[in-house]
Amino acid sequence: MILLTGATGYIGSHTWVELLARGYKVVGVDNFSNSNPLVLKRIKSLTQMEPIFHELDVGNPNLLDVFEKYPITAVIHFAALKAVGESVQKPVEYYQNNLLGLLNLLKLCRSHGVHQFVFSSSATVYHPENPVPYQENMRLGSGSPYGWSKVMSEQILRDFEMAYPALKVAYLRYFNPVGAHESGMIGEDPRGIPNNLMPYISQVAVGKRDYLSVYGGDWPTIDGTGVRDYIHVMDLAEGHVVALQYLAEKQQSITVNLGVGQGTSVLQLLSAFEIASGRKIPYRVVDRRAGDIAECYADVTLTHQLLNWKTKRSIDQMCLDAWRWQSKNPNGYES
Ligand code: NAD
Ligand code: UDP
Repeated sequence: MILLTGATGYIGSHTWVELLARGYKVVGVDNFSNSNPLVLKRIKSLTQMEPIFHELDVGNPNLLDVFEKYPITAVIHFAALKAVGESVQKPVEYYQNNLLGLLNLLKLCRSHGVHQFVFSSSATVYHPENPVPYQENMRLGSGSPYGWSKVMSEQILRDFEMAYPALKVAYLRYFNPVGAHESGMIGEDPRGIPNNLMPYISQVAVGKRDYLSVYGGDWPTIDGTGVRDYIHVMDLAEGHVVALQYLAEKQQSITVNLGVGQGTSVLQLLSAFEIASGRKIPYRVVDRRAGDIAECYADVTLTHQLLNWKTKRSIDQMCLDAWRWQSKNPNGYES
């Protein structure tokens, strides 16, 4: 059985659906600090299966009950606070949540003989001075407490592996997950004003916000706007299944980028979304956002080699699916 932490969050919920579709047995935990309990109903109607779920904080010693109750063989650890800007204001909360949760989980994995661990890492672990595309062996370092919490988590896991060699870890460094399940029943439902580009564009398209602020038009990029590596959340979900298979078959740890390997600018994404939605999306170019970089995209050579797997979905598909979710659920899960 697979334990998913942060199971009702954006990436967790999509991975949960994918795992169930592939026949895995799953138990999910989440403390709902950044997700909505209604996700569980949507997963049920989408999969026709009752999700097994416990409302729990991963840093809480009660997590032991889950390890005692279910025959857990692998963990996919999504649970974390993830807002870069907020982490600058609340470093203690970020380190406490992201690191203590991981330590509690690792102690339980050790005491219960769990040997497969998939960790949600991020492109933000790469030092911003690295040239693009980012390769897995490049220098690490970050510009925010959130990013450092991921660098530190990776280090904790590597130290843990040394002391407890039976544990094998997939360090998955995600680039920019976007889009939604093709059913339009689950998707990204940020609280308040979205920080990220795709949910912001979606909310402008659906009429919840007036216009998109484009953070900087003078970056040294194809059209002056920031370039990122957007990956469809269902491709990302499949990547987790492939990583689990790798750990089970090869019994080796792995560190890989999960991205498409191509950069897309803000204006390119905006234009693809206009086509997908059939709506005009007003925008204004404003000052650069503090802490941003011009370009961030993955080198996916190692991912292809080791996992023998590639993403399938295009930017157009990402926009179509994001739009289906947003237009069916203009107010997210509360719609
Ligand atoms: P999300 O906020 O939608 O999901 C995270 C879930 O974890 C939420 O449901 C939240 O309630 C839960 N959670 C947080 N702390 C918890 C705790 N202590 N105990 C139990 N549950 C807790 O975020 P997401 O986009 O689905 O991200 C999932 C993971 O992927 C995170 O670790 C994030 O850092 C990482 N990641 C995300 C992105 C991205 O752009 N979305 C990029 C790179 C890495
Ligand atoms: N961006 C933007 N307007 C927004 C949100 C984001 O122009 O309202 C830009 C941002 O500057 C970056 C890109 O879109 O170049 C992706 O930003 P996001 O926050 O989604 O991801 P991250 O910066 O964390 O990679």
